[in-house]
Amino acid sequence: MRRLLNELISLKGRKALITGAASGIGRATALRFAEAGADLELVDIDEFGLRETKGEAEEFEVEVNVHRIDLSRKIEIDALWENLKGEEPDILINNAGIYWFRDFTEVDESFYKKVMAVNLHSIFWMCQNFVRARKDKGGVLINVSSIEAFLPFAKGLVHYDAAKLGVVALTRAIAREYGKKIRANIVVPGGIETEGVKKLKKEAVMKFDMEKISISFNFNARLPMGRFGMPDEVARVILFLASDLASYVNGAVIPADGGFLST
Ligand code: NAD
Repeated sequence: MRRLLNELISLKGRKALITGAASGIGRATALRFAEAGADLELVDIDEFGLRETKGEAEEFEVEVNVHRIDLSRKIEIDALWENLKGEEPDILINNAGIYWFRDFTEVDESFYKKVMAVNLHSIFWMCQNFVRARKDKGGVLINVSSIEAFLPFAKGLVHYDAAKLGVVALTRAIAREYGKKIRANIVVPGGIETEGVKKLKKEAVMKFDMEKISISFNFNARLPMGRFGMPDEVARVILFLASDLASYVNGAVIPADGGFLST
C-alpha cells in the first residue's frame, strides 16, 4: 500500500538515542526528531547543555530523558545500556565528536587515545550495544563522520581524520552484516556553523593565527554554495535517513557539506 508522506517522515512511537545532544548538530537533530514525534534519550558530557535541549524538545510533547555520560569511557557506555535494558531505542545517532587540533608531530599517546576514544571507539561500543539489542527487532543507525575523512583540508587533524574514516568503515560493515534488520548509514557534515566551529574561528582571530585564518579563507573560497551550513541543515538529512522515507537506504555515505566534496 502506498503510504502518505507525513506518515513516512513521522517518528511517532519510536525512540531515538542521540549523542552530543547538548549543542550543535546533536541539539538540532534532537529538536527535529522531537518535532517528528520521537521520544528521546539524549547523551552528552555537558549536563547544562543537555538540560537546555531537553527543555526545548519537550515543547513537542515527547518524552525526553538525559544522560550525562563521558563517551570516552566504555564503562559509562555499558552502564548506560544496562540502564536502558528492555527499553532500548530503535534509532541510534552517534554524533558526539571532538575536533581538537594538534600538529601530527606533536601528538602524544594520551592525546591520541582521547581523540580515538571519543571519535571512534565510543561509536564502536555504542553500535555493538545497539546491534545486540535490536538485531532481531530491527532498527536504524546513523553515524556522523566528516568531510575531513575524505578530503583532509585543515591542518593538524591527522588523528581526527583517521578516526572519522574509521567511522565510515565500521558503519558500512554493520550495514553489510546486519542489513536484513538494521539500516546503517553515514552522514558527512562539513562547514557547519556550530558552537564548536564558531569557537575555533574566534580563537584563530583572537590569536591572530594566520595559518588557520588562511585555511578558513581557502575553505570558503572552495565551497560551491559560498556559505557555511546551519546545524538544522544536517539535522534534516539525519531525520530523512532515520525515517521510513529512507527505507531502502543502507550503507550509504551522505554529505551535507554545501558541495565541498564535489569540487
Ligand atoms: P559541537 O562541539 O557543537 O558538539 C559536540 C557535542 O559532543 C558537545 O555537546 C560535546 O559536549 C559532546 N561531547 C564531546 N566529547 C564528549 C564526550 N567525551 N562524551 C559525551 N559527549 C561529548 O560539535 P558539532 O560541530 O555539532 O559536531 C557534531 C559532529 O559533527 C561531530 O562528530 C563532528 O566531528 C562532526 N562534524 C562537524 C562539522 C562542523 O562543521 N561542525 C564538520 C564535520 C564533522
